[in-house]
Amino acid sequence: MKSPDDRPGAASARADRTRLVVGGRRPDEHYGFVNTPVFHGSTVLYPTAEDYLARRSRYKYARRGTPTSEALESALAAIEGPACAGVCLLPSGLAAISAALLSVVDAGDHVLVSDSAYDPTRTVCDTVLVRWGITTTYYDPLVGAGIEALMRPNTKAVFVEAPGSLSFEIQDIPAIAAAAHARGAVVLMDNTWATPLYFRALDHGVDLSIQSGTKYIGGHSDVMFGCVAANERTNKALRDTVFGMGLCVGPDDMNLAQRGLRTMAVRLAAHQEAALAVARWFEARPEVLKVLHPALPSHPGHALWKRDFTGSSGLFSVVFRPVPGRAINAFLNALSLFGIGASWGGYESLAIPFDCTTIRTATTWAPGGPTIRFHIGLEDVSDLIADLEGGFAALNAAAG
Ligand SMILES: *Cc1c(COP(=O)(O)O)cnc(C)c1O
Repeated sequence: MKSPDDRPGAASARADRTRLVVGGRRPDEHYGFVNTPVFHGSTVLYPTAEDYLARRSRYKYARRGTPTSEALESALAAIEGPACAGVCLLPSGLAAISAALLSVVDAGDHVLVSDSAYDPTRTVCDTVLVRWGITTTYYDPLVGAGIEALMRPNTKAVFVEAPGSLSFEIQDIPAIAAAAHARGAVVLMDNTWATPLYFRALDHGVDLSIQSGTKYIGGHSDVMFGCVAANERTNKALRDTVFGMGLCVGPDDMNLAQRGLRTMAVRLAAHQEAALAVARWFEARPEVLKVLHPALPSHPGHALWKRDFTGSSGLFSVVFRPVPGRAINAFLNALSLFGIGASWGGYESLAIPFDCTTIRTATTWAPGGPTIRFHIGLEDVSDLIADLEGGFAALNAAAG
């Protein structure tokens, strides 16, 4: 048997769907089995003392890489585009964010972070980076090329996230990257929402593209995982930081991530279609003030989204017309197909109430009414809408 050729150069014309199927697979090295086996290991044995002294072995020690981790890294790299020089695996999305940040900053540096960033990203800056004298300025996500005015001589990194995973602002990433690069700063992006399938971050000026693999890569709400894709400029520092801190992922979790990745393109297409259908349905409801979904023409970031993104995923928010908090709770409690809980990206639908007012420091959050974030899973859209109709009946009963 032979292995599919997944070298980026050999397969440059291939579609992402194909790359997801062939990436990192080596059946010829594994007795013909389609999938790379899960290598549970720590020690790697050397044939002789001489081999050990010269470290003559393909694998040295499991923390530094196994066939399981290598397969996942190449599969992930295959969809990041030609600018990708390497991918590092981390035990969670937040670990991927903190490792990526730590790989580019030194004591005394300054970083710029979007005010719309995932809240725990702020915690990394405000509790970890701050201890090395690294200061953070939060900026308006809509700043665009205006980021230039916020750059200081010691600004080392600009962190972007688009869309914000609660508030859904779309950032002008090429403009921000151009300004950052002109001052020698590195651009980091949390690309969990679009994934490289719908936004090729490294092609748009991002130097370190981060995903919480817990979301669409895993896809089944059964694993915590994160990854960072680096370009030539950032790859060595990223690897040195991840290896230096001893960060690695357990073999079974890598295997779950690998398994999820194979079907990510078809799942994402289904999430996209269903989420758009439900978002449009929400827009027509009298109880709804607005729907925050960048693929809807009504969204203020729609033109930018259309310019840079090739798709949308299953996560969006809805701003309700003002009602008491008990009516929003009644809406959520009446739903049976939508679970109430953190995270997203699994096959199941979720809904959570949220409020960005206490998170923000650079901008004010005043959407005009209470807000709920929805993740649209792989259930049938008409069943989801029937469930939501029950939610609105409960909302109106509680409000009235
Ligand atoms: C969930 C999430 C993370 C963190 O990922 P974990 O795997 O939960 O640590 C980071 N960014 C965004 C946008 C997320 O939604």
